[in-house]
Amino acid sequence: MTAAAPSARPFANDVGDAFWLPFTAMRQFRANPMTFVAAEGMDYIAADGRRVLDAMAGLWCVNAGHAQPRIVAAIQEAAARLDFVSSFRMSHPAAFALAERLAQLAPEGLDHVFFTNSGSEAVDSALKIARAYHHARGEAGRTGLIGRAKGYHGMGFGGLSVGGIGRHKRDFGPLLPDVAHLRLPYDGSMAFSRGQPAHGAGYADELEALLQVVDPATVAAVIVEPVIGSGGVYPPPVGYLERLRAICSRHSILLVFDEVITGFGRLGRAFAAEALGVTPDIITCAKGMTNGAVPMGGVIVSRQVFDAFMAGPPEAIELFHGYTYSAHPLACAAGLATLDVYEEQGLFQRAAAMAPAWEEALHDLRGEPHVADIRSIGILGVVELTPRPGAAGARATACAQACHEAGVLVRASGDLIVLSPPLILAEEHVARIVGAIRTALRALD
Ligand code: PMP
Repeated sequence: MTAAAPSARPFANDVGDAFWLPFTAMRQFRANPMTFVAAEGMDYIAADGRRVLDAMAGLWCVNAGHAQPRIVAAIQEAAARLDFVSSFRMSHPAAFALAERLAQLAPEGLDHVFFTNSGSEAVDSALKIARAYHHARGEAGRTGLIGRAKGYHGMGFGGLSVGGIGRHKRDFGPLLPDVAHLRLPYDGSMAFSRGQPAHGAGYADELEALLQVVDPATVAAVIVEPVIGSGGVYPPPVGYLERLRAICSRHSILLVFDEVITGFGRLGRAFAAEALGVTPDIITCAKGMTNGAVPMGGVIVSRQVFDAFMAGPPEAIELFHGYTYSAHPLACAAGLATLDVYEEQGLFQRAAAMAPAWEEALHDLRGEPHVADIRSIGILGVVELTPRPGAAGARATACAQACHEAGVLVRASGDLIVLSPPLILAEEHVARIVGAIRTALRALD
């Protein structure tokens, strides 16, 4: 990386009082604000020019590395040419082109794309599409939704309702009715599994058992992340997703994979569906779709789902749903350039090739102080720490702080150190990330 550090800006650490940050302890943040003024490749750059290796790809999204020149140029060009056009009864060429490209990348049979502006909107759109699909087929009674413990599906009321992280919901009820949750398919016997745990497929049978209690003819969809991300990086046991697929098919329930994190190369393929060999009816995506450069999400649906909507009279609006910024021209330009970069640089293949070294290096932390579990798959990983008695999350926070001081940005979440670096990472970056964590762990009390 040769670019000159940007000049120091006097206001960089003057955080003021107005900005209410998401998921942030505001008073703590103000006392010690972390800000960056630039980014490039694998690094964030602070106001004083200090570089920090980004082991989180922003927030699981900058898969091709920061400020990717081709994506930057595409956004600039698009902004100057067509700033905005709605996609209500009109649109623009890049929107059609991006939808085609995504349909090509998605598993066979998933070939229609509805655009949103975030993962949360993608999830809520998918849940609405699932209900409306059954409605269109004369089964309006299918409204129930099934999520999973530790699932994260964004912050809309739909996503929150099917999500499985209690703290996210506590202050915001009542949420949607008719929602059930499956258990987390994980137990202590799977600790330190590399990739998918070898056993545990039977956890999926809980869905069949639930459908003995809840009338399956009232259930619209099951939604899961193929690999649970924000909830703690839990790869599915071998055979688990296959069983969920079979049970959903048996009861005509739509299976939704929330691939907001796992999409676009994290698991070495375009989607986890392909990497894990299980095809859902609907995929939600966002984040890596534009390399994080412009907000965008999408819902990719099967031909069968789409066709159910098209069975009505041709003059009818098939889906009463959409957003002002659906298929925004800047996002579409960023998306097209992002897919070009992924393809030309072979980034999905590169992620697949790097995954064994990543796994090896992470699991080499086993036995370091405070390490309770390590989970990894593709270029994703988590180091779970034993909580400090009476101070949940304190160790992970201290560890992340020490890593930051050593020039590596990792994410602390509860007792977890979460890792999801850009897919352009090299062995040298793997060594620096794992080295910083090792040193930090050894220094913890
Ligand atoms: N679904 C999953 C699986 C996610 O990981 C996230 C974000 N981390 C979302 C949905 C929500 O996406 P957004 O923050 O873009 O709304």
